[in-house]
Amino acid sequence: MRFSTMMTCVCGLVLLFCQTTRADEVQWIIQQATLSEYMSYLRVLTGVDPLPGSPPYYLRNRYSLGTDIRRAANWLQSQFESFGLAAQQQTFQTNYGPNVVAELPGRTNPQNIYIICGHYDTYHQANQNVAPGCDDNASGTCTALLAARILARYRFDSTIRFIAFAGEEQWMVGSLAYAAAARAAGENIVGVINLDMILQPSFDNLEPDPDHDLDIESNAASAWLAQIVAAEFALYTPIDVEVHIGDDLYSDHWAFWQYGYDAVGLSENTVYEIWGGSNNAYHQLTDTIYNPNYEWDFAMHVVRGAIAGIVRLAGLVDVIVGDLNCDGLVDFGDINPFVLRLTDPAGYRLTFPDCPDAHGDINRDGVVDSGDINPFVRLMTTQ
Ligand SMILES: [Zn+2]
Repeated sequence: MRFSTMMTCVCGLVLLFCQTTRADEVQWIIQQATLSEYMSYLRVLTGVDPLPGSPPYYLRNRYSLGTDIRRAANWLQSQFESFGLAAQQQTFQTNYGPNVVAELPGRTNPQNIYIICGHYDTYHQANQNVAPGCDDNASGTCTALLAARILARYRFDSTIRFIAFAGEEQWMVGSLAYAAAARAAGENIVGVINLDMILQPSFDNLEPDPDHDLDIESNAASAWLAQIVAAEFALYTPIDVEVHIGDDLYSDHWAFWQYGYDAVGLSENTVYEIWGGSNNAYHQLTDTIYNPNYEWDFAMHVVRGAIAGIVRLAGLVDVIVGDLNCDGLVDFGDINPFVLRLTDPAGYRLTFPDCPDAHGDINRDGVVDSGDINPFVRLMTTQ
C-alpha cells in the first residue's frame, strides 16, 4: 500500500536512519496537534483570553461588518507570520473584514495549490456585538491555524494555503471573492478542505440513521477529493465519516465549486440537520468553549484527520533526519548546522541556503531543542 512505502534512501551509509515509513511520518506530524494548543487559539478568538498587547482587549464578536473582526484579522495574520509563513489580508469589500491568507510555497510543483480553510466571522441575529462563535467557526479557523503552525516546519511538493475567510455568514461573500480572483488569475487550486463546525457530532438525530460522525460534503466533481480525505480519516483516526455528494452544507467550499474548483466541507452535521436544530448553540451566546455538549476528543480527531489529508494531497518532501547540510550523510559536517539550528533557526538557513528542507528535530517532538542533542549524536556515531 502506498503508506507503507519506505522513504527513499540516497546513500547506503544512512540506511540505518531510513527505517521510517511514510505512515510513521504522517503520524509524527499529526500527533503534534494537541488540544492545549488548539484551545489556546480558540480562547483568543472567542474572547476568553485577551489579544496580546496592552491594554488587554477581549474580542466580543467577529461580525463581518463590525470592528472587532479587524482586530481578529490582525491577530490571525500575526500568528501565521510567527510560524514563519508569508501572510496577508485580502480586502474584498471595504465594509467587510478581510480574508487572511498564509502560504507555504511548494518545493517541486508550486503552481499546484491545496487549501485548508475555515471562516472566522461570527453571526448572532439578536445582537451582533456579542457572538463568541466557538463551534461556528473558531473551531474550523483554529484547525487551519494549528495546521499552519505544524506544517510550516515541513516541505511539500505542492503549495499549501491556510485561509481564514470573512463574510461567510453573509452567504460566502469572502470566499466567493477569493475563488473569483483565483479563477481570474488562472490559479491551479487542485483541492480545498474547508472546516465549519466540528465540535458537536452528537444530536445527529434527524436522519433515518442517527449517527455520531463527521460529515464530508462534496459535489460530484470533488468526489475524488472526498474519498482521499475519508481514506486519511480511516487510516489515522477512530471516528466515522460519512461522505455526501450534493448540496448538504453551505459554507466556503461551496464558493470554490461556483468557480470550478474541487472542494469538500467537513462538519459535525449536514446543513439541514443544523438548520433543523441539531445544535442548539448555533448562532447563540452559548456557542462558547464552556458548552458541555462539545466533544473535544472528536474535534482533535477531525483536526488530525484534516492535517493528514492536506499532507497526503500536497506531498511531503522526504528529508534525511539529521542531515542538516544536505550532503546525503549524517556526519560531523552536520554539527555546525545543528548548533546553529538549535540556537538560531534563521542563522541555519542563512548559512545553508541550498538546504532549506532539513531540520534538527531529531526526536520529532515538534521543536529543535536540547532534547535533540543525544539522538543527534547517536545518529552520527552509529554509522
Ligand atoms: Zn459556519
